[in-house]
Amino acid sequence: MTRKSQTAMPSFLPQKARLLMTLRAQAIMQPDILSAIETIPREQFIPDSLHAHAYENASLPIGYKQTISQPYIVAVMTQALELKKTHRVLEIGTGSGYQAAILSRLSRRVYTLERLRPLLISAENRLKNMQISNITYRHGDGAKGWPEAAPFDRIIITCQVAEIPANLLDQLKIGGILIAPAGPSGKEMLVRVKRGEDRIEKEELMPVRFVPMLAGIDR
Ligand code: SAH
Repeated sequence: MTRKSQTAMPSFLPQKARLLMTLRAQAIMQPDILSAIETIPREQFIPDSLHAHAYENASLPIGYKQTISQPYIVAVMTQALELKKTHRVLEIGTGSGYQAAILSRLSRRVYTLERLRPLLISAENRLKNMQISNITYRHGDGAKGWPEAAPFDRIIITCQVAEIPANLLDQLKIGGILIAPAGPSGKEMLVRVKRGEDRIEKEELMPVRFVPMLAGIDR
């Protein structure tokens, strides 16, 4: 290892401890979620210039006008999914790949879709470098979902949608859970949908702010 790479890898221990305390105080209690947040190096998902802020409970820019979500929101959404190790999960909006990394620790396989190719490629390289091998990547339009891999036990949408796309509800297993920031942009609520045998149950969890789902693919 070169001298440079040694000094370029701070451990962030005090910052991590503070973040975990904040999350516990905000009712994130699942040990496997807290441990995933503790061990996944968030600093590697953000631009170098923001490294000092990696463990602040804040969303941060990742380029292309997109953001990595606040750790608290990542934790709330993950907790609301009630994941099991056997689950196959669809994520819409790969972004930096951070949420996918957390999901990959708590499920069998994550299928992640992103419309911006450069973001998808860097997320894929980053996660593969971290030896995470249970994520499948696709450049595509999240509103269409991933019919070839459906149905999913869980679906997480990490961009704001006015309405939950019908294709995604169709790709959710009976008994499955979908979580999404849904509603008019600027007034979206975190919504949890449970798909029953013959009805769909919707529950509003809290107000959140997300970048919008855009139509079609880019680049
Ligand atoms: N989960 C990400 C944060 C996502 S930000 C993380 O952990 O870093 C929202 C992402 O949704 C952006 O990268 C944006 O490009 C993507 N997005 C927006 N509309 C989309 C669509 N129609 N299909 C797929 N991805 C989309």
